[in-house]
Order: sequence, then structure tokens, then C-alpha cells
Amino acid sequence: MENKPRVLTQKYELGRLLGQGTFAKVYYARSIRTNQSVAVKAIDKEKVLRVGLVDQIKREISVMRLVKHPNIVQLYEVLATRSKIFFVLEYAKGGELFNKVAKGKLKEDVARMYFQQLINAVDFCHSRGVYHRDIKPENLLLDENENLKISDFGLSALAECKRQDGLLHTTCGTPAYVAPEVINRKGYDGAKADIWSCGVVLYVLLAGYLPFHDSNLMELYRKIGKAEFKCPSWFPPEVRRLLCRILDPNPATRISMAKIKESAWFRKGLNSKQSKSETEARDIAAPDRDGSGPSGNSNISSEPKEELTNPPSLNAFDIISLSAGFDLSGLFEEDCRKQEARFTSVQPASVIIAKLEDMARRLKLKVKKKDCGLLRMEGLEEGRKGHLSIDAEIFEITPNFHLVELKKSNGDTMEYQQLLNENIRPVLQDIVWIWQGEREQQTQQQQLQEVSS
Ligand code: AMP
Repeated sequence: MENKPRVLTQKYELGRLLGQGTFAKVYYARSIRTNQSVAVKAIDKEKVLRVGLVDQIKREISVMRLVKHPNIVQLYEVLATRSKIFFVLEYAKGGELFNKVAKGKLKEDVARMYFQQLINAVDFCHSRGVYHRDIKPENLLLDENENLKISDFGLSALAECKRQDGLLHTTCGTPAYVAPEVINRKGYDGAKADIWSCGVVLYVLLAGYLPFHDSNLMELYRKIGKAEFKCPSWFPPEVRRLLCRILDPNPATRISMAKIKESAWFRKGLNSKQSKSETEARDIAAPDRDGSGPSGNSNISSEPKEELTNPPSLNAFDIISLSAGFDLSGLFEEDCRKQEARFTSVQPASVIIAKLEDMARRLKLKVKKKDCGLLRMEGLEEGRKGHLSIDAEIFEITPNFHLVELKKSNGDTMEYQQLLNENIRPVLQDIVWIWQGEREQQTQQQQLQEVSS
């Protein structure tokens, strides 16, 4: 098995082992079609099922597909066999950031650059409602250009498993990066807990050692609970102040992401050009149209056997029926993430346009343009990525049968999707004959019921 190349669903050639955890092994792999390097994380379904975290993992995989950012390891696709799930991930060639720190503390400017990248990525995920909850050295990787890449965003359920498994000492090592409220197992705010962990990372980058350290686990917990740490003499006063605000044991008074980003130390070296490229990166990072990864195929596919060579291809329903107790149906969220939404209508164009204008009024959207069957509507308030702008294009099939396409032309994709699903769809209900995708979904649901009955 080690000598001849192993092939995963005829798409990826698996190479050497990059790393190993309790539930997963990470391999280097190459896309057969594009030759692009990827990392494949193989997770043992049996082990995941045994600790009862299936639902949480399903949910987290789907959120992970939503967070695309230059400093986050991207999830390209999910594949499955009878006993394993494979995450096909962006390959971080530079290995773990902390291999660098192991050789000694970093220069202030270098540490600041990694911290800026870390904070930007974590803040981006928070804006999407995704919390890492397990930011630690093993999860901070570097690409070939020395850019930080956070791995395992959205997969923290697996880390949680480690704890529930009672394997804290052997698999988690030390809780050195975990916020006091998480240790105390009080209900906690994911954002504030991540901020604490980022503070520990910053300390380690600048000091070369941990802020909280003790060979006795109870003593370590005590120190974390009281935020008992000392800054080495070479820490500049600005860093000390920032760290005291981040490593505040009370999550309610702990500094927010916004305030960290405003702090003078954080902002040093960030000029307006950089901020712009960061914004542009975010735009690139918005969920792509077809979600395709390096294999050019975005979906969940599978193979039935453990041998990874030339397996017959199975579709999603096959995986579900094969994977008793592991229903992956929650992952089929591709359609609702697409930027365009289309519906057919049996109304004349004039009625459709009047309805769209009425909708714009109700949803406080300004009609910016109206010609040749195109209606451009714009949000009055600025969103995360500027004003939301939506185009509605009407195509005549017969005078009383039209296809209407709604498309985001500017603004934040999540804001657009929320508006589309919560407001636009219900408001347009009386002129819609059928939304594209609805039929297929109905048929799939019927098939699913048949498969499972
Ligand atoms: P994990 O189980 O995610 O902690 O991964 C175990 C180890 O595999 C990590 O500490 C890395 O050294 C390596 N690894 C994980 N993901 C990647 C990736 N996307 N690219 C390169 N190496 C990775």
C-alpha cells in the first residue's frame, strides 16, 4: 500500500503522511486532473459515530464550506467511503508556524504580521457566525509564501471529541491556549474564547514560550483562571497593554476584535493599500459560483470499497444508504449558496416588474436602473462589503411565461443570501410558479425517503 500510489475516487493520488490526530490522518495528495497539490484529511467514521458527534460534524462541514479567506485553509470537497470521510483541503506547504517558533522567538514585525493575518481570518469567520474554539499551534500552518493558514476552522467538534473521550492528557496535551471560561465549562461566547487563544498565540510568537505554564494541570488551570502571566522585558509597552486587554479572564470585559484591529500596535505597518488588498482578498474569498475544487468537481462523491483504486463511482444517495447512521444529506447545500436564484412565472412582464418594484419598496431597496427587462435594486444602508446591489433580469419565454433571474451584483454574499431566503422569496411568492432547484429538491427528498424506508 505504501509503495504504489493510492488513488482516491479517481481524482487524487495520495502521497506521504503529513500528520496524524485521534480521528484523522492527513496525507499529501495531488489532483489527477489539474496536478494541484492538496492535503487529504481522512477521518474514521466509526470513531466519530462512537462519540456521537455526527450532527455537529455535519453542521460544521457545511459552515466550513462557507468560510473562504486567504488565511484559512480552504475545504475543496468532501469524499466518503464506507468507513471514512475525506476532506480535500488546500495544501499548506510551509508546515506548522510553531516549527519556526521552536527555533526561537520571532522579530516583532514578523510576529505582528502573523498576528494581523490571524486576527483578520478569525474576525472574518466570526462575521459568518463561525468560531474556531481550538486555535492552537498545530492549527496554524504556513503556505509556500509564508502566509498564515488556519486549519480546522469549523472542525472543532473533532477537538471537542478528544475531550469528551477523556483523552485530554494524551491527545490534547495542554489546555494552554484555552480561555478560562471554556475550561470552567460555563456557557461561553465563541468569539471571546477565540480572542483569548489569539492572545496566547501572540505571546508565544514574541516570547518563544507560553504565558501559562505548569507541569501540574490544576496549577495551570488556576493560572489561566486568574490570567497570571508575566511579559518578558523585551515586550514593548504597547504589546503589554494589548495582551493585558486580550488575556482578561472576564470575557465580558475582554477586548473585542474591532478594538484589537483599532489598536496602534496592530495597525503598525498596515497602510491603506494593504487594507485595500485585504478587502479585495475577501471579495475573492466569497463563496465561488460552483464551489469547484482542484478536481473541478464540487460535490460529495464516494466509493464503496476500502481499496482506493478505481472504485465504481456512487452518488450521494448511495453514500447515505451505505452509511447507515451517518446521513450526509445536510451537506448538500450547494444550491442555496449559489449567488443566482431563478424562478419561472406565468405572469406577464408588467406584473412581474410591478411586483419587483413593490418588493424593493417593502425591503427598503432603491431602484437604481430599469431598462430592457433589467431592474437593479440597491440597499440604502452600507453592509459589510458596501451597498448590497441585486439585479433582477426578466427573460420572456412566451408573453405569459417568464424566467426571472436574481443576482447579487455588489455587496456581501451572506447578507444577500439572508435577504433572499428570509425576505425576497416570501414576498415574491404570489408571482412565482416555481423556483429553480425546487423540483429537484422535492424529487431528491422523495428518493431519500424511499432509500431510507
Ligand atoms: P490535524 O489533524 O488537522 O491537526 O493535522 C495534523 C497535522 O497534519 C498538522 O499538524 C499539520 O502538520 C498537517 N496538516 C494538516 N492540514 C494540513 C494542510 N492543509 N496542509 C499541510 N499540512 C497539513
